[in-house]
Amino acid sequence: MDNAATTRVLPEVFEAMKPYLLEEYGNPSSTYEFSGKIAQEVEKARSAIAELIGATEKEIFFTSGGSESDNWAIKGVADALRKKGNHIITTSIEHHAVLETCKFLEERGFEVTYLPVDDKGLVDPQAVENAIKDETILISVMFANNEIGSIEPVAKIGEIAHAHGVIFHTDAVQAFGHVAINVDRMNIDLLSASAHKLNGPKGVGLLYIRKGVKISNLIHGGAQERGRRAGTTNAAGIIGFAKAAQIAAERMAERCTKETALRNRLIEKVLEEIPYTRVNGDLTKRLSNNVSFCFRFIEGESLLILLDQKGICASSGSACTSGALDPSHVLLAIGLPHEIAHGSVRLTLSDEITPEDIDFTVEALKQAVKRLRDMSPLYEDFVKHESGK
Ligand SMILES: *Cc1c(COP(=O)(O)O)cnc(C)c1O
Repeated sequence: MDNAATTRVLPEVFEAMKPYLLEEYGNPSSTYEFSGKIAQEVEKARSAIAELIGATEKEIFFTSGGSESDNWAIKGVADALRKKGNHIITTSIEHHAVLETCKFLEERGFEVTYLPVDDKGLVDPQAVENAIKDETILISVMFANNEIGSIEPVAKIGEIAHAHGVIFHTDAVQAFGHVAINVDRMNIDLLSASAHKLNGPKGVGLLYIRKGVKISNLIHGGAQERGRRAGTTNAAGIIGFAKAAQIAAERMAERCTKETALRNRLIEKVLEEIPYTRVNGDLTKRLSNNVSFCFRFIEGESLLILLDQKGICASSGSACTSGALDPSHVLLAIGLPHEIAHGSVRLTLSDEITPEDIDFTVEALKQAVKRLRDMSPLYEDFVKHESGK
């Protein structure tokens, strides 16, 4: 129930990678024949992935994952265009890989506008347009939110960015392989994706860079990735990434239908069975596998421990912030007060989940929430007050 944190490598993906670890393990940059085939396979993988998002193979640059791609996109544009301007527009619900990169740049003289979102977690394209000034060099808005699953109006934002001559980056790590993406139709200039969120291996991702977009390099060294991203090519990882992306595209419609049914079953049952519960995020402009609840009078972290005892893996927000005591920045951004935001749990499904798993989870949630509320003085006061009315 935590497939937004990571996913299982599919057997077909593992099989596609295996020969390039055990047999054809050469360094694709070497000149001898032994490495020739693997270099060709990496290029085939690049073309296959490019085709899936309507890009050309020359616009796909492999990285070590989503965090690196986000860092590269933002720091790279900031560095390349610092003479043109120092203003960046992003949102208050981005992944930490974007937010912390923006903070890093703020300490170095850049100005960042963090746009608010509405109570469903959606960015208003008009607010993006209003925030643009002469100094604006980059707009970075995520495709889909990793905590509450809301799908942002990226095509509209891309159109606005282009009308003003501003570069548009989107962190599509949660959307890639889950939602159909076309970089031309959506006016996307830079796009981050990561293999391990779509049944590929960990440690490999990509940055799509539209031809002509000015961006400096992040990793300096060798001539890999056409001199733009140094480091020995992660050939098996890239080949696995392409395989996973192709399978995800083939199965997208079927998986979406299946996950949506499971997601709606989970939401309906929980709202029916557990009082004082809310669903976070938009119910339709939403990733098919994302469910986010807030249960009043409890701590999400305590609930996670009880779920874990039943063998259910869930998250209180993003894996990156777990352990921190502050409530999720995303839940605060949609306007939830601290005490409600603290009671959050995110459940993210896969197409391997069954209706029985959903029912088991609903029962576990029901028992765990009751147990925690029974121990809560706040809940006791609330019930007394309610019955005294
Ligand atoms: C997981 C995630 C990332 C980070 O990707 P890694 O490959 O794990 O570095 C970035 N953005 C979003 C929205 C994510 O969900």
